[in-house]
Amino acid sequence: MTSYDAIIVGTGQAGPALAARLAGAGRKVAVIERGAFGGTCVNDGCTPTKTLIASAYAAHMARRGREYGLRRSGKIIVDMKRVKARKDAVVGKSSGGVEKWMRGTRGITVIRGHARFVSQNKIQVSEKELASDHIFLDVGGRPLVPKMPGLDKVPVLTNQSIMDVDFVPRHLIVVGGSYVGLEFAQMYRRFGSRVTVVEMGPRLVGREDDVVKVDGKRVALGEVEGCLESFPKVKQAQAMVVTDPLSGAMVVARVVTRSKCDPEEIIDHCARNLAPYKVPRRIEFCDTLPA
Ligand SMILES: Cc1cc2nc3c(=O)[nH]c(=O)nc-3n(C[C@H](O)[C@H](O)[C@H](O)COP(=O)(O)OP(=O)(O)OC[C@H]3O[C@@H](n4cnc5c(N)ncnc54)[C@H](O)[C@@H]3O)c2cc1C
Repeated sequence: MTSYDAIIVGTGQAGPALAARLAGAGRKVAVIERGAFGGTCVNDGCTPTKTLIASAYAAHMARRGREYGLRRSGKIIVDMKRVKARKDAVVGKSSGGVEKWMRGTRGITVIRGHARFVSQNKIQVSEKELASDHIFLDVGGRPLVPKMPGLDKVPVLTNQSIMDVDFVPRHLIVVGGSYVGLEFAQMYRRFGSRVTVVEMGPRLVGREDDVVKVDGKRVALGEVEGCLESFPKVKQAQAMVVTDPLSGAMVVARVVTRSKCDPEEIIDHCARNLAPYKVPRRIEFCDTLPA
């Protein structure tokens, strides 16, 4: 058994920084990691999603090239194998950087494997036993597949397994319409999948404020959404406030429509029913559903 001044389990957000600080202060530190260095953020969270979002944004802008004065002769094709390879390269560099940092820091011993407690101050990793009076757990989160009837009969992806997808799914159903779900929804829509978001709450991103300020005036997004949904061609609407560097804060809306329609029709409808600062300045179409 080896004794340490501190044992840190997990190399996610807090573990490596804490290990480096303790080692820098002359402590003997063990860092244990069972998976990829960097944890969720680096491997299955922030870094890969933002890299994929960048590819999706590029596809989206390429399709909108005409609006910017560009012409193209062929179709924009999303090569998901290359999109994934780019994501893997970015993630690999980042995860490798954390590993190199930990292995290269004097005073830190890196141990690979699954840590389990054998007593209050002892940890076991495979055959090894380690002891310390200071054991820090940075073991993070894992994806949870909820117990939904029928879910066991269909292929299901989590934020981890979706990282291995190297094709554009024909139709993706995203259960949960908050930050992570909407990131995947938007990127896959931009890659070319049909996407359906299922949210049990009354609105998407339910943790966000429902009342926001535009030009110092209060705008209840629910009221704007109600107005949008009172337009017969609109099936579902989500209003939000975005800040444009040139125009400042403005209300924009995403809508699912029952039939094809012109954004100006929707804006006119809102202008007739809402105060001017509440009228969406831009309408984005998410999908068109059969009536
Ligand atoms: C899809 C997605 C997108 C996200 N995007 C963002 C974003 O843009 N911005 C943002 O701020 N946050 C984002 N997050 C949240 C962010 O990733 C997490 O909050 C953060 O990674 C949590 O860090 P952590 O250190 O607590 O845990 P983790 O990063 O999960 O690290 C835990 C580590 O512990 C290891 N471990 C666990 N148990 C053991 C054990 N018994 N023995 C050895 N090792 C063990 C694991 O292998 C892992 O490496 C996102 C999350 C997801 C899922």
